[in-house]
Amino acid sequence: AHEGILRRQSLRESAARTYARSLPIVPVRARGLTIEGADGRRYLDCLSGAGTLALGHNHPVVLEAIRTVLDSGAPLHVLDLATPVKDAFTTELFATLPRELAEKGRIQFCGPAGTDAVEAAFKLVRTATGRDGLMAFSGAYHGMTAEALAASGGARHTSVARLPYPYDYRCPFGTGGERGAELAARWTQNLLDDHKSGVPRPAGMILEPVQGEGGVIPAPDGWLRQMRELTAARQIPLIVDEVQTGVGRTGTFWAIEHSGIVPDVLVLSKAIGGSLPLAVIVYREELDAWQPGAHAGTFRGNQLAMAAGRATLAHVRANGLAERAGELGARMLDRLRALAGTHDCIGDVRGRGLMLGLELVDPGGDLEPGGARPAAPHLAAAVQQACLDRGLIVELGGRHSAVVRLLPPLTITDEQADAILDRLADAITAAVR
Ligand code: PMP
Repeated sequence: AHEGILRRQSLRESAARTYARSLPIVPVRARGLTIEGADGRRYLDCLSGAGTLALGHNHPVVLEAIRTVLDSGAPLHVLDLATPVKDAFTTELFATLPRELAEKGRIQFCGPAGTDAVEAAFKLVRTATGRDGLMAFSGAYHGMTAEALAASGGARHTSVARLPYPYDYRCPFGTGGERGAELAARWTQNLLDDHKSGVPRPAGMILEPVQGEGGVIPAPDGWLRQMRELTAARQIPLIVDEVQTGVGRTGTFWAIEHSGIVPDVLVLSKAIGGSLPLAVIVYREELDAWQPGAHAGTFRGNQLAMAAGRATLAHVRANGLAERAGELGARMLDRLRALAGTHDCIGDVRGRGLMLGLELVDPGGDLEPGGARPAAPHLAAAVQQACLDRGLIVELGGRHSAVVRLLPPLTITDEQADAILDRLADAITAAVR
C-alpha cells in the first residue's frame, strides 16, 4: 500500500506539494507524538502540522469534543451563524487574550487557513485607515495567497515595504546582539519618518513574534516593544501574526505575553482549531470600520474545528501546558547547545518554548561579516533524511532552508523529548560522516 499510494500520488499531484516530497511517508494512524505509516514504521512527529497539533495527534479531549458535536445532531455547516459551539469557542478564546482585547476586542472568523486571516487583517486595516501600503519584515512568512505572500520573506515583485528583522546569527547589519536589534529598529524608524523617501504612511505593519518558517528566530522583547511604540505613535495598526506561535507554543499562551505588547490585530490559526482548519482575527474595536457584508466566506463557521479548538485552548490553559512548553523547551535548548559544542556544522541554536531551530552551516566556509558561517542547505537535507531513517520527522526552514526545526506537541514527556534529541544527534553525526 505504501509504495502504491506514494507512486500514484506523485504522478497526480503537482510538484508544489513540498511536504510529501521531502517526507515520503503514508500516515495511517497517529497518537500524540507518534505517526504510523502504511509500511508499519513509526515516527516521532516534530512537524506537528507545522505547529498545529498543540496536544499532539488525536488527543482524547479533542476527539471527545468532535464526537460530542457529531452525536448532538447540531448542524455541521451554517455559514457563520451564531451557534452554541461557536459561542463556547469564542468565550474560551477571549478568556486567553490580553485584557485590552478580551474586554473590547472584536473577532472576525476568516477560515479556513492562516493565510485567509492574514488577508482579512490587511483588508481590515486598509478599510479602517483609508491607507493602502503595508510593511512586513525580511524572512517573514504569512501564507501563500497573493497579499500574504507579498508580505512574506522571499517574495519578489512586491509592493509591500520590507523592513529588517533582528536576526542575531545572520545580522543584516553585520553586528548581531543588542546592537543589531537597535540598528534594525532605527532603520524602521528612519523609514517611517523619512517623508522624502516616497514611502507613504502604511495601512499596517505585520510581524511574527518568533519567525517560524523564516528559521525559528525569536524577536527580542525590547525590539517588539519598540515596534509597538513606533507604530502606535504614528497611528499605524500593528498586526501580530501568531498563527504558529500561539496556544502555548513559546512558553506563554500567546507569544506577545513575553514582551507585553498588545497588537491592534492578532492573527490566529493552526492550533486554535485543535487540528482542524480554523482562522480568526481579533482586533481593537476602533478598527471595526467595515460595513456589514464587507467580509464574507462560505467556510468560516466550521463547527467541528471550533469544538476541537475550544477543547484544545481549555486543555492547554487548565494544564499549564504553556509553562510546561517553556520549561521543557529551555531544557531541550540546553541539550541542543551542548550538541552544537561538539558539532561545528551547527552554527546556531535558538528558539522559544517548543519552537526550536538548529542552523546548519559549512564549518570550512569563510566567516561572514557578522561571524556566521555559510548556510548548509544540503547538509540540512541530509540531516532531515537521516532523521527520517531513524524514525524522526523534522521540517526545514530558514532563509536558506538550512534550519532544522522542531515543533513537537506541548504534551510530550521528558522521555519523548530525550528520544527526539537522541535521534537528532545521531542523525547529525551520520549526515556529516
Ligand atoms: N503565518 C504564519 C506565521 C505561519 O507559520 C503560517 C503557516 N506556516 C501562515 C501564516 C499561513 O498559514 P496557512 O498555511 O494555514 O495558510
